[in-house]
Amino acid sequence: MQRISLVDTAHNFIKEILHSGAIAIDATVGNGHDTLFLVKQVGPSGQVFGFDIQQTAIASTRAKFLQTPGMQCLTLIHASHADMSEKIPVNYHGNISVIMFNLGYLPGGDKNIITCTDSTITALHCSCELISSQGIITVMAYPGHPGGDLETAQVKSWCEQLDKDRFKVDIIYSADNKDSAPRLFVIQKRH
Ligand code: SAM
Repeated sequence: MQRISLVDTAHNFIKEILHSGAIAIDATVGNGHDTLFLVKQVGPSGQVFGFDIQQTAIASTRAKFLQTPGMQCLTLIHASHADMSEKIPVNYHGNISVIMFNLGYLPGGDKNIITCTDSTITALHCSCELISSQGIITVMAYPGHPGGDLETAQVKSWCEQLDKDRFKVDIIYSADNKDSAPRLFVIQKRH
């Protein structure tokens, strides 16, 4: 039996609601794999905003996209996702269908540059206001590296404090079910 990765699971949740012409945010661009997925989903009539604090991640993703049809729908922003409310034009607020987070460090990059609990939680608060009704926030979290354990626990606790009338939360655990195994949080705005 083939095991489906949690990143693929996140993509499957997103495919259900992210259609051509929609607006999405990749809160952690990194190597641009999730960004590319979002760009393909929304198509040339949609809009994707991507954030990363590492200029190298923004530059290498921009270079990758030069070859990709539909590039005009992508805006890459060299800034923290904690600043997304001020960086995203006001006319998009409340109209974003999907916001993706893939926490931790950049694979193949500097493992000392990781997402930090405070900015992650600030960005999640902003995300709740930016997404549309029925929109989703996906958060891939990795408790298996130093700092990732605390961050994952804080994301879980933040989810537990959300108003259950406004937000539905699913937590999907890895099949190997270890405390250190990655997990996926899917937060959907009910209205
Ligand atoms: N989604 C990426 C992909 O498809 O390749 C992988 C993302 S990687 C696990 C995490 C990324 O988050 C790193 O590139 C890191 O620089 C970025 N990051 C860390 N803190 C950030 C912040 N406050 N705002 C935006 N990006 C941040």
